[in-house]
This record gives sequence, C-alpha cells and structure tokens, in this order.
Amino acid sequence: MTAQVQAIRGMSDILPADSGTWAHLEATLRGVLGAYGYREIRVPLLERTELFQRSIGEVTDIVEKEMYTFDDRNGVSLTLRPEATAGIVRAAIENGLIHNQRHRLWSTGPMFRYEKPQKGRYRQFHQFDIEALGYPGPDIDAELIMMLARAWRLLGIRHLELQLNSIGMPAGRARYREALAAYFRGHLGQLDEDSVRRLDRNPMRILDSKNPAMQELIAAAPLISGYLDDESSAHFATLQALLTAAGIPFRVNPRLVRGLDYYNRTVFEWVTDQLGTQGAVCAGGRYDGLVEQLGGSPTPAIGCAIGLERLAELFRLCGGVAGTAAPQVYLVAVGDAALAAGLRLAENLRDARPDLRVEVNCGGGGFKAQMRRADASGAVVALILGEDEASAGTVAVKGLRRTGDSQQTVRQDVALAALLPLLADR
Ligand code: ATP
Ligand code: MG
Repeated sequence: MTAQVQAIRGMSDILPADSGTWAHLEATLRGVLGAYGYREIRVPLLERTELFQRSIGEVTDIVEKEMYTFDDRNGVSLTLRPEATAGIVRAAIENGLIHNQRHRLWSTGPMFRYEKPQKGRYRQFHQFDIEALGYPGPDIDAELIMMLARAWRLLGIRHLELQLNSIGMPAGRARYREALAAYFRGHLGQLDEDSVRRLDRNPMRILDSKNPAMQELIAAAPLISGYLDDESSAHFATLQALLTAAGIPFRVNPRLVRGLDYYNRTVFEWVTDQLGTQGAVCAGGRYDGLVEQLGGSPTPAIGCAIGLERLAELFRLCGGVAGTAAPQVYLVAVGDAALAAGLRLAENLRDARPDLRVEVNCGGGGFKAQMRRADASGAVVALILGEDEASAGTVAVKGLRRTGDSQQTVRQDVALAALLPLLADR
C-alpha cells in the first residue's frame, strides 16, 4: 500500500461529527457580539514577523519559541499569526479606522504556536477574538466582561471563574520589574534556565512560568498591586464596582500578569477547573499603548480572545449538544425513473422549505440497502420511490424514528404536508 501522508502534529481536523458544535459556538458568539455593537473584521493569517516582535514583545514565550516563522521567496520574514490582536491593530491603523473613531470588532479563525501538543494545547488552534479600539474604559472593560458572561449563559457553560487584576501603567511596572528582579536574584539557585535568562530582560515573564518546581518561589514574589498609579487604582476600583452592580462574580488574582507585553491596567482570565492544567478559556486585557507602538495615533483599547477548542470541550462537559446537521428526510429511489422523479421531488421540497435537509440516495443500490442508509443517515423520515410510485406520481412516506410509525402513500405534490407532522416533535 502507498504510504499515507499524516497531519502535522498538534494540528487537528474538525470532523462532521464535531463541526455542529463549532458552528453553534460561533453562531452564538456572533449573535451576542452583534447585540453589543461589535462588527466582524477579517485579517490575513500571515503577517510580517516584525509585527509580532514589536507588539507581543521579544522576551515572551510566543516570540522566543512559539512562532512559525519563515522567509518568503523574496527573503521577507513572515509569521503565521500566533494571535489576532496585532494583525487587527495593524489593519485598523493601515485602513484609517482609528483616527477620531471608535470600533468594536471581532474576528475568528486559526492561530499558530509551536507548543508542546497536549490536551487543550495545540499548534493550530482557534480563537474568537474581540477588540474595542478607542475606548479608555473602565465602562467598556465592564461591558466586555458582561458580554462574555452572557455568552457563557447562552451556551449553558458553567464552572468558569473570572479572575481579574490590574497591572497598572508602564512606569509603575518598571519599578515593579526592578523589585521582582531583586527578589528573584536573591533566589538565583531556585530559578530554571528560562527564568535566569529572563531575569534581566523581563522578570515579569518569570511569573508566567508553568514549571511546577518554580511555583512556590513565584507565590512568594512581590505583588504588582503595590506599584499601581492612582489613576490605575481608580480605574480598577470602578471596574470592580460596575461588575458588582451587574451581578458578575469575580476574584481579584494579584498574580495574574498575562504573557504578552502589550497589556496594561485591566487584565482578566476566565478559568475552569474542569479541563485539567489547560484551564484558561478566555483571556484578555487593556492595551492602551499598542496602537501608538505600532505607528498609529494614541488609542486606548481593550481586547480578549476565547480559546475555541477549550470552550468546545467545556461546552460538552456541561452537557451542551448542538445540531448535527444530519438530514431530516432521506429519499430512497429504486430504478432510473424513480431516481429522476426523486431528484425532482427533492428540489420541490427544498423550494418550498429552504431549510429542510433532504438527502437523496445517490449511488444506486436495492431497496434494502437504501433503507439501511436511510436509517444510518439519522433522518427522521424516508421518502420511498419505486417504479410503481414513479409512474403513478406518488411517494411512500415512512417515519424512521418511532416504533409504530406507519407508512402512507400520497401524491408527490402533497409529500411535504405528509412528512411535516413526522418532523414536528423532533
Ligand atoms: P496559556 O497560558 O494556556 O498558554 P496564553 O496566555 O498563552 O494561554 P492567550 O495568548 O491569552 O493564551 O490566548 C487566549 C486563549 O487562547 C487562551 O486562554 C486559551 O484558551 C487559548 N489558547 C492559547 N494557546 C492555545 C493553544 N496552544 N492551544 C489551544 N488553545 C490555546
Ligand atoms: Mg501560552
């Protein structure tokens, strides 16, 4: 046998059995986002590598070791997007969306990170990305979080805890960084290799370490809350008050700093204990400096990304079921005349009811084989045409899902009326 070509490690296929869940998640999120005035933006999967270096930050997991970077045929360094914010901000600047304007945007699609594949962590994964450009907050911060809470509610998702923190402004963070570096330098012997390297360039990233051996040291490190400027503290207090007024539970997690450099003030994560170690389902924060840093005019902003693989898994764990898009009607046609009549009848049914899912038995087969396919298809009703029905202009209508479902033969032009009652209570 010829050898098979295999998928790339960490890159999954979403098969028809699961695509219904994905479509349901995406449609629900689109609906909720639309209800808050967010509009879709679509940006390329490939960007210049420089875009991510300048936004995410040089000393981060993503830029140091997770990007799919290569030279194109002209020797220009390109990178498959590891996240969506940078590309959206680039597009907004480049297309003049930002100047004296505000935009609530969303986007969805695959992201690429060269990580160690495991449950909840893949090399191609999907995010639903939300960005509000031109809003200083904290009103928009609160509204964004309320919008996410609504999405979880509509999806029937439970077991999510909202963790919240403020990481202040760059000046305070610089002082915090020094304090943190001094602390870790005092415990040099307990640092792993990555952390030693980050000590001078970006000690806050040490807090992001997933190395279990480092957790105790990290837990005792100084907190960023001691380094907030007054305005950031007020911003954070108002956000908490707005969330409390809206009845949204949250926990302030003073250790939450997030793994990308561009964040400031509000950072948050929705975390679950149901998915093992990969528990963050949605994460985000303010990035008031990013637009300017990428060459635009100063524009306050906040954004977040939902990890769709993790959301889908949690949705299933919470008992969520989405339509499978199986056919409702399976049309059995035995013989050439029956097939021609059947194709025509199926067209007429779809004309009358554009949302009706009708699957015609293509590929021939005897009556028994076709009925087996009808059963296996998941359809609720079989329409059966043989030579007799074809010449008489009739069709047999048979319920497939209930014992005692009877079969009746009707004129083809009233087939729809005959089958609808069988679909009604499904
Ligand atoms: P983690 O700490 O799990 O690595 P992160 O901070 O790198 O997450 P973000 O860049 O904030 O993640 O991405 C937002 C969301 O995207 C995460 O909360 C998670 O749900 C999802 N996500 C991130 N990386 C992956 C991945 N490799 N595979 C699947 N989902 C991911
Ligand atoms: Mg990560």
